[in-house]
Amino acid sequence: MVNTTIKTTKSQEVFAAAQNLMPGGVSSPVRAFKSVGGQPIVFDRVKGAYIWDIDGNQYIDYVGTWGPAICGHAHPEVIAALHEALEKGTSFGAPSVLENVLAEMVIDAVPSIEMVRFVNSGTEACMGVLRLMRAFTKRDKIIKFEGCYHGHADTFLVKAGSGVATLGLPDSPGVPKAATSTTLTAPFNDLESVKALFEENRDEIAGVILEPVVGNAGFIAPDAGFLEGLRELTHEHGALLVFDEVMTGFRIAYGGAQEKFGVTPDLTTLGKVIGGGLPVGAYGGRRDIMSMVAPAGPVYQAGTLSGNPLAMTAGIKTLELLQKPGTYDYLERITKKLADGLLQIAKETGHAACGGQISAMFGLFFTSGPVHNYEDAKKSDTAKFGRFHRGMLERGIYLAPSQFEAGFTSFAHTEEDIEQTLAVARDVMSSL
Ligand SMILES: *Cc1c(COP(=O)(O)O)cnc(C)c1O
Repeated sequence: MVNTTIKTTKSQEVFAAAQNLMPGGVSSPVRAFKSVGGQPIVFDRVKGAYIWDIDGNQYIDYVGTWGPAICGHAHPEVIAALHEALEKGTSFGAPSVLENVLAEMVIDAVPSIEMVRFVNSGTEACMGVLRLMRAFTKRDKIIKFEGCYHGHADTFLVKAGSGVATLGLPDSPGVPKAATSTTLTAPFNDLESVKALFEENRDEIAGVILEPVVGNAGFIAPDAGFLEGLRELTHEHGALLVFDEVMTGFRIAYGGAQEKFGVTPDLTTLGKVIGGGLPVGAYGGRRDIMSMVAPAGPVYQAGTLSGNPLAMTAGIKTLELLQKPGTYDYLERITKKLADGLLQIAKETGHAACGGQISAMFGLFFTSGPVHNYEDAKKSDTAKFGRFHRGMLERGIYLAPSQFEAGFTSFAHTEEDIEQTLAVARDVMSSL
């Protein structure tokens, strides 16, 4: 039933060649498997809950192209909509009806968003929102949390979670001191630290940006009252609250973490799911703030391919699919079965572990926990995670190649997929 030895000769050849062609052989660092050891597999195609490598091996996928594939890969309705859109051309660089449609869907769904600007990636969305926070408040400093990732813009590359953490770079060369001198950091779930930063920097802080549910330091949920406390503190100090929902938007709930937890930020960034597997990001929020964005206002931000018709089409179709009744109940049920199952197996096989899930996002740390922040997460046995990851991969289960990444399910994952995954996990954990 479970294949225990896989041949990955072709993957190895292609990846070896890639290393001569591209830095580290990849287009984005975590893909190189540096933190788990071993070689990455090279993909041939994806469909539903599955991926196939170029040696023909099939895997159950819990990465979902890092979040977008919440309907499962290459959903037939998304593909059909794309075929139709493709006939009309690949890029307009001019207004299209599709932008209105997706904008209305996003505004209807996400409580904080009254107006939205589309961009091409989560990084770009976070860069845009940063400039806007500063322009609106006429203040330069921002507070971010240790282990939270907001894309690779200079200002955010301080204690920036997974990609950076995984590679053991506390920061990145090439980032000028001036770019991060306005970045203040606090531990996640620690309101007192945030309070202290506001006291020490009175009238200087533009806002607080965070992943409302952390995924880039592994999966970390907000403690009761944390998001509410940030909402109060930012109000009190005339600062903006920004939820980076690039990962959590349309995943934690249709309206994102802000719907799930009932806390409405001033601004929100989106990405991943809203592109349905094509490159899209977005930022949006209060009308008075968004009205400052060019050309309505003076805050410059632009993009040749922004609002791209293919990307808008994939996003619209993906959100339509998510609106089907029962979708989020199903995602919750299968993901809970997976996360609970993994914890139970770890316990029975004698491994210290903790973790959890909300909706279609989950995590497992090899530490007894509890994990409330990045410091706690770092106590994990990353060598053990590396062996676990490799064991799972060799038996046909594709997990994110880092202890400090969240896992993702989709509504293409079946109960049987989850059961097979747990059976493999039992095998692998028994021999870790
Ligand atoms: C993925 C991610 C980003 C960056 O998005 P890209 O599309 O990779 O640039 C920003 N913030 C969060 C929370 C993310 O998960």
